[in-house]
Amino acid sequence: MRFIRLLALTILLSWPVLAHAQNGPSVLIVTAHPDDDASFAATTYRITHDLGGTADLALITDGAGGYRFSTLAEDIYGLELTDQKVAEKHIPAIRKKELMAGGAIIGLRDYIFIDQPDTGKTFDADAVMENEWDVELVARVLDRVLAEGDYDFVFTMVPVPSTHAHHKAASIFALEAVSRMAPEDRPIVLAGGSQSTFPPASFVFRMLDGHELTTLSMDYGPWGFNRNTKLGLDDRLNYNIIRNWLIAEHKSQGTMQTYMSLGDSWETFWLYEMNPEGSAEKVQALFDAVIPSDDD
Ligand SMILES: [Zn+2]
Repeated sequence: MRFIRLLALTILLSWPVLAHAQNGPSVLIVTAHPDDDASFAATTYRITHDLGGTADLALITDGAGGYRFSTLAEDIYGLELTDQKVAEKHIPAIRKKELMAGGAIIGLRDYIFIDQPDTGKTFDADAVMENEWDVELVARVLDRVLAEGDYDFVFTMVPVPSTHAHHKAASIFALEAVSRMAPEDRPIVLAGGSQSTFPPASFVFRMLDGHELTTLSMDYGPWGFNRNTKLGLDDRLNYNIIRNWLIAEHKSQGTMQTYMSLGDSWETFWLYEMNPEGSAEKVQALFDAVIPSDDD
């Protein structure tokens, strides 16, 4: 009991800079596909399970495009999911269930489904935003969610050119929505992704052409949490287990299963330059708390 009180005190003391956080940090994750939150699995788990925080998820697409590698899930769901027609009908609901099963493991609280079309893989974020998604609807929903949520942080996928256009577009929408808020109400927006080393050895991304809001800070960060961090009896466990459990829930996503326990164990977060002065200190306080200390 004394240990628990001490732990609570430690967390409170390490959390003084977030004036409006009632218990712990509150996070909104904005992603394109129902399994993208795997990028932040261990960090989110720490926030929701050990720091008294909350995490909600706004999902832009309906995930209908994720059926091509569903072979092993066909018997589980009793459906020929690799058939596009079957997938169109059933995959969005299946993937929402998979997302929420994984979300239960990492402690997600609320889900906002925006259900935009999940078409094939492209790299052109502008084309997705102009031709595939209802731009006004996505913006309106994100504006509402941000206004009501009083979030401390927004997690987005780092919008590097080589990533799926939907990932980039989701991050751009999140950045644009935050930039529409009154400066004093804005959460801090972070770009996250898995890296094999920390600091990342060969990461050269600065901003996405034509989208200045995606510019990453060169002055502060990045911050990293290693999913191989040990815990439990005799340090036999680690936070990769959490991410692997989450991945395992996405049974319709065959290739996703191959990402289990890969070497890219550093959940790495960059600060977008559009965040106000003083944000880096708050992100530092977050990761001081997220990264377990020897006393945990
Ligand atoms: Zn994705």
